[in-house]
Amino acid sequence: MTDQFALGSAEERAEDEEPPGLRAFSRTPQFSRPSPVSPIPLALLSESTALRRRAVPRLVVSERSRWFRKRFYPSTTTSEWNDWHWQNRNRIRSAEQLARLVRLSPDEGDAIGRHSGPLPVGITPYYAALLSEDDPAQPLRRTVVPSSAEYVRTPGEADDPLGEDAHSPVPGIVHRYPDRVLFLVTGFCSTYCRYCTRSRMVGATGERSVHKSDLERALAYIEATPQVRDVLVSGGDPLTLEDERLEWILSRLRSIPHVEFVRIGSKAPVVMPQRVTPALARMLRRYHPLWMSLHFTHPDELTPEVQEACGRLADAGIPLGSQTVLLKGVNDDVETMRRLVQGLLRTRVRPYYLYQCDPISGSAHFRTPVARGLEVIRGLRGHTTGYAVPTYVIDAPAGGGKVPLLPDYVLGREGDDLLLLNYEGRAYRYPDPSLPVAC
Ligand code: SF4
Repeated sequence: MTDQFALGSAEERAEDEEPPGLRAFSRTPQFSRPSPVSPIPLALLSESTALRRRAVPRLVVSERSRWFRKRFYPSTTTSEWNDWHWQNRNRIRSAEQLARLVRLSPDEGDAIGRHSGPLPVGITPYYAALLSEDDPAQPLRRTVVPSSAEYVRTPGEADDPLGEDAHSPVPGIVHRYPDRVLFLVTGFCSTYCRYCTRSRMVGATGERSVHKSDLERALAYIEATPQVRDVLVSGGDPLTLEDERLEWILSRLRSIPHVEFVRIGSKAPVVMPQRVTPALARMLRRYHPLWMSLHFTHPDELTPEVQEACGRLADAGIPLGSQTVLLKGVNDDVETMRRLVQGLLRTRVRPYYLYQCDPISGSAHFRTPVARGLEVIRGLRGHTTGYAVPTYVIDAPAGGGKVPLLPDYVLGREGDDLLLLNYEGRAYRYPDPSLPVAC
């Protein structure tokens, strides 16, 4: 981490939203909660959440963010900057807005100008502060600023390469594996990734979230499908929903007897860490067992703000995993990936999956050969903590599911010995006689 991300003052770090008496309690995870729970009516939730929603909490602000805010948003207060609603409202959505913050290349300007349809430009001011002002090839900038390569469709690409639409029994549900479903609760994200697997649909309706009647139909499907024991709440980004809407969804899911646990997939803690308020963490902890998959791409995303947000979720007892897409020129070298996965462990996030980039239309400029991914995994396994090594997978086209990929560590057999290669490239024998099969 460089000096530009140094911590803000102790005063700015103070969580003055919680009365002191509550702090010790809220930081002690409570895991045992009877299941299932009774759903809470949305009207009641709105009331209680409105009562809970007090002043914007005071969160850490890095030196970089402070400098950026003073330079480009001089009339914005720290309190506004730390308000996720402000971040959301002021996200950068046009070439003109972006050109105020960075020197756009002709290609970027042209690509933004040509854009129409889903996957619009959207970047929170917080995340924009992390972008290079001059370098269009900077990894973070490439992931959120369009380029003309997005408009080039190559053989094998498709708008829906995973066949999600074909596995959708009702709107908002993708049912690919027998015992679990994907529940798409919004099509909105505060920041849009240019390689998004759901680029065919995200951002298509602006901030309008999925209609309640569609959520009800999806919930009815889960209720009527007893083999579903695990629900991944995704989108778009579910953490762009207001607390009360999210709580209503979680309480409904946790009231279904056969739903054993719920996962939330989100990039909000990375692109808008202000979203992870103490109030959100307190609400989420009521719905354990609850897991979270966060979407990290590059070590430069591991700012003090993100570390605070992830710490708050971890303190609420939520196991955090990272899903990272392998992206050409962004994170496809061992050194960058090593910095990312080791930084994630320090941030209390377990690197979970490393995805080979899906063949989405217009993504060839982001895709690496599979051999590159294997090289990255080989450079991690044995060279760093085992917890830091994600499982490298290809999500098989047309709904085939995740297929794990491993470098070849088994050289073959010699008699009763298995010939193995260790992380240093040295060969070893392991006695592995063929045992007689019992009748
Ligand atoms: S946050 Fe997730 S859903 Fe949203 S654009 Fe990025 S990858 Fe797609």
